[in-house]
Amino acid sequence: MNTFAQTPKKVKIIATIGPSSDSREMILELANAGVDIFRINLSHAIREDILNRIQKIRQAEKIINRPLAVMGDLVGPKIRVGTVEQGTTLETGVKFKIFTKQTYGSKEGISINFPSILKDLEKGNEIYLGDGEIKLEVISKSDEGIETKTIVGGELRDRMGFSSQGISMRFPLTEKDESDIKLMCDLGTDALAVSFVQSAKDIESVRKLLPSKSPPILIAKIETMAAVEKAEEILEVSDGLMVARGDLGFSVPLPELPHIQKSLIELGRAKSKPVITATQMLESMIKSYFPTRAEVSDVANAILDGTDAVMLSAETAIGKFPVEVVKTMSNIIKTAESKVPEKDFSGSEVVADAISASTVHISDEVGASLIIVFTESGYTARVIARHRPNQLIFAMTPNPRTVHTLCFSGGVFPFLTNPISTFDQVLTLSKTLVKKNNLLRIKKGGLFVISAGAPFGRSGTTNLVWVNKF
Ligand code: PGA
Ligand code: MN
Repeated sequence: MNTFAQTPKKVKIIATIGPSSDSREMILELANAGVDIFRINLSHAIREDILNRIQKIRQAEKIINRPLAVMGDLVGPKIRVGTVEQGTTLETGVKFKIFTKQTYGSKEGISINFPSILKDLEKGNEIYLGDGEIKLEVISKSDEGIETKTIVGGELRDRMGFSSQGISMRFPLTEKDESDIKLMCDLGTDALAVSFVQSAKDIESVRKLLPSKSPPILIAKIETMAAVEKAEEILEVSDGLMVARGDLGFSVPLPELPHIQKSLIELGRAKSKPVITATQMLESMIKSYFPTRAEVSDVANAILDGTDAVMLSAETAIGKFPVEVVKTMSNIIKTAESKVPEKDFSGSEVVADAISASTVHISDEVGASLIIVFTESGYTARVIARHRPNQLIFAMTPNPRTVHTLCFSGGVFPFLTNPISTFDQVLTLSKTLVKKNNLLRIKKGGLFVISAGAPFGRSGTTNLVWVNKF
């Protein structure tokens, strides 16, 4: 049974593994600094590397005695430019072509991996390459492709991202995604992040490919305007959302991003499903030892919005200070998370909603120091977690996959336990758990609150709240 040496932070940290962070020692150090989930970006890794990284994460988990989850991030239909002549710089003001035919990129023009989308573009549409380093504007179309004017020039690189508000993407799963899904499932991934989801159907088509036994959870990455508009129906069939601010920022006007972030987090909380806020959170720390004031505010504000998890991308994958970044993020979280505003929830799950609200209310009323949840699927823990109670939520589950999927939920600390069948076992296990975690300093006579669903061992039965004396 895992125990904590100090009070853990509630909001979870996801760190992307890359060349800066894939050694055994580094993974362990990052976990000790506060990482809960490691993200494997399938755009970049090859099979051997992925296998290696997952093995190291599972080893680190045993050493630190706390669950660490693995999330594979599918590439999806990400549009990229092809290969480009080394050292090609595009001057501002010059004409530049996007060819339908596959060619080697040069000062003349480039090709892209999904040329069929070029027909969607119209005169006046803006195109961004990379993280927006290069900006183009469409001036005309022909059989050859499209002609653009370079509004902001810059260095052309191989496989730069290609984004435009003019594109509406409707792609089935790519072959690469299909083989990545199979590979990640074979390697026992806990979650898959599905990129460029456009509708509920896209999630369903991934779910069809999952194994029936202990499938990973599916996180829908909301990174286009179409996905924002259909977020509710997408969430209905997903297990969580990611506010993928990187690509989303090319698809919606930037000033709308903060509001979209807030409404997606609210949607996730209303449905008791975790939401991840991602991209450029501590971007300057890729190169600098110190974050900017704006970045610190951004991370803190995501937490005040009620996000379950915050994500690091290049900061930990290729940055110079991966451990320092995670420590910085942990410190911001600890300061911000005690101030998340309370919220009332009422939804369709009448019993679960009432029990979860009561659990949180009672815990405060009686001054309980801990909420203990017994859960099969994790639902009872998530429905309580969305209230962001003052108390930590210790979730006991006999299901190893649930242990890992609960790593995504803010405030929830999962523990693997033997299957239970009686309420006596619930009490005995709870007392042992409290005793082992003396960090909580629960004294004899101190109170903790238990919530569960009876009969035990079945999911979706949240119906019990119990105040217990230690
Ligand atoms: P990516 O997704 O890092 O895989 O592009 C996140 C985002 O777009 O913000
Ligand atoms: Mn993206």
